Order: sequence, then structure tokens, then C-alpha cells
Amino acid sequence: MESRAAPTLCVVVPCYNEAEVLSLTAMRLQQALRRMVAAGSVSGESHVLFVDDGSRDATWTIIQELHRYSPQLRGLKLSRNRGHQNALLAGLLEAEGDLTISVDADLQDDLDVMAEMAQKYAAGADIVLGVRNDRAVDTPFKRITAQAYYRILRMMKVEAVYNHADYRLMSRRAIEALRGFEETNLFLRGLVMQLGFRTEIVHYARGERAAGESKYPLSKMIALALEGVTAFSVMPLRYITVLGLAISLCSFALGAWALAGALVFHNTVPGWASTVIPIYLICGVQMICLGVMGEYIGKIYIETKRRPRYIVETALPAGALRANAAGGSEERPRFSARGGLERSA
Ligand code: UDP
Ligand code: MG
Repeated sequence: MESRAAPTLCVVVPCYNEAEVLSLTAMRLQQALRRMVAAGSVSGESHVLFVDDGSRDATWTIIQELHRYSPQLRGLKLSRNRGHQNALLAGLLEAEGDLTISVDADLQDDLDVMAEMAQKYAAGADIVLGVRNDRAVDTPFKRITAQAYYRILRMMKVEAVYNHADYRLMSRRAIEALRGFEETNLFLRGLVMQLGFRTEIVHYARGERAAGESKYPLSKMIALALEGVTAFSVMPLRYITVLGLAISLCSFALGAWALAGALVFHNTVPGWASTVIPIYLICGVQMICLGVMGEYIGKIYIETKRRPRYIVETALPAGALRANAAGGSEERPRFSARGGLERSA
């Protein structure tokens, strides 16, 4: 196996309106990097890449200041808000170095675990997943819904690691493999399971947000949850078929029973309720089935457009921007960094 001595690490941090916490995060990340460099597990070239996901607050100004303060703190500004998964993808695909670790900006993920991840990498792992070993800081609602969600994912045969979000290490070749997955409907924690390679797990306790508020309101959480199912599994469509079959069987039995009542037993009472209730019920079921089909057709519609998943507006330093900033295949439009902010500090 190739030697994995002192690889260059890029810590990718998606940030959306994180002005309140960013300076603290930068400081903590630098401390963590310094410790890892001192321990010889990563090279002195290792750095942090903040991805500003079209923030409306001072996030980008702070990233610029941080970069002026230390070239080790780099930045990537997306042209608009594209959501956590796309911002993360942008960071990963644009990152330089031998390995990346993706981490949230709010310091909820224990940064000391990065050293453990790097150890696993040194031992030959290409992907190291950070898995929370408790959900003590979550509200009961989030805990229950998260558990139910993972159960549904398993039912739908979607591969996902319980309690792993997006805190993970990826080697250069894992990132290059990820580049080959060009889907617009992104659910990274599911995609990563498709890559294969040697995958290991490290456990950590997730803390409270250091400052600011959650950028994941319930609506975004539901959208991500749906993506997780519909981007990876056609099981819901199969369940619809099963449901249709079951309903047809029931209707058949009911029909036979009604026919027998009318023709053999002559005991049929003209019933309003028994007529309209099945109609309502079946209408409802049909609407749900149409909705599920619509969900998949919508996915096809979006995928066929092959729009770039993110557009980079500016990179700090300018050289940090890879040639193919659109994050897609060769045929996709290329976007290069431009604007007056490209002078590096
Ligand atoms: N985030 C982002 N774009 C968005 C929403 C969130 O880049 O549209 C980032 C956010 O800045 C943070 C990470 O995604 O670094 C996770 O978000 P948050 O901590 O708010 O989610 P929670 O931990 O509450 O689920
Ligand atoms: Mg958070």
C-alpha cells in the first residue's frame, strides 16, 4: 500500500448565516489542525475551506477577514443559497489535498475526533464516518423522528448508517469517485455508502450549537428526509403496487359478498354509508399514490435538466478554485472565479 505519511487535510465547512459562530469555529479548527500537524498525522499545508452558501449576514466578510489573518483559512463563495448538501458538495469537489473532513460550522461535532479519523485514514481507510453515540442534546421530537426515519430508510432498503450525518473523512480517491455521481437530487450520506472503499466509523458525542440558530427548519429536514428515500429507493412505488393489489382483492371479495347478498340471500339493504365510505377511502389512496408517483416524476424532471449543482462566485485564495467549478461533467458549463476579491492576503 502507498505510504500515507503526513497527508494534506482540507476541512470543509458549509456556512449559511453563521456570522455569530464563525470566528470561534475558525479558532477551534486552527487549534485542532495545529495539534494534528504537531502529532504528524497531517501536513503543515493542511487548511480549512469555508463554503459560504449565499449567506445574507456578514459570513463572507468574516471569511475574508479570517483569510487575511491566516492563509490557512480559505473561502469559497457560492453565487446564492443552494442548501447544505450542495454547499457541502461544492466544498468537497473544490477541495485540494489528500483528504477532506466535512464538519458543520456550529461546533456541534467534536473536533477532537478529527485526529482519530486521520488515524483510521493512515491505517488505510478511505472513508471514516463520524457517528453520534448519543442524542442527549436533541429535543424528544427530533430524537423520535430521527429514529423513525432511519427505520423507514431500512424498510426502503436505503443504505444509511444510523446517527451518521455529514461529519466524515474522505480520501482523495473517494472524492474523485464521488465526482462521478452527477445527480442533482443530493443525499450525500446515502451516496457515500454507494462509493464502496474501506469505510470505518468513529463515535463521538454531539454537543449543542456554539452560537446562532439552527439553519435546518422542519421544512428543510422533511425535504432532506424525502430526498433520502426517493433518491435511493423505488420501494415506495413497489408498495403502491402491493397496496393496489390488496385493495383490488378486498374489492373483489366485497363485490362477491354483495352479489351473493343480492342474488342468493336477498338481504341487501340499500346502504348509503357502505357506498360512499369506500369511495372516499379509495379516492384518498389514489391521491397518495399519484403523489408518490409525482415525487419520482419530479425527480426525473429535475435530473434531466442537468443544471450545475452550485456556482462558485469567488474563491480565496483565487488559486484554490479547481478548473471545473461547476462540479459536474466535462460537458457542463464551467464557471471561473471572478470579481475583485481574488487578491489573496
Ligand atoms: N447550512 C448550509 N446551507 C443551508 C443550511 C445550512 O450551508 O441552507 C449549513 C450550516 O451553516 C451548518 C450546517 O449546514 O454549518 C448544518 O446546519 P445546522 O447546524 O443549522 O443544522 P442542525 O445541526 O440544526 O441540524
Ligand atoms: Mg447544527
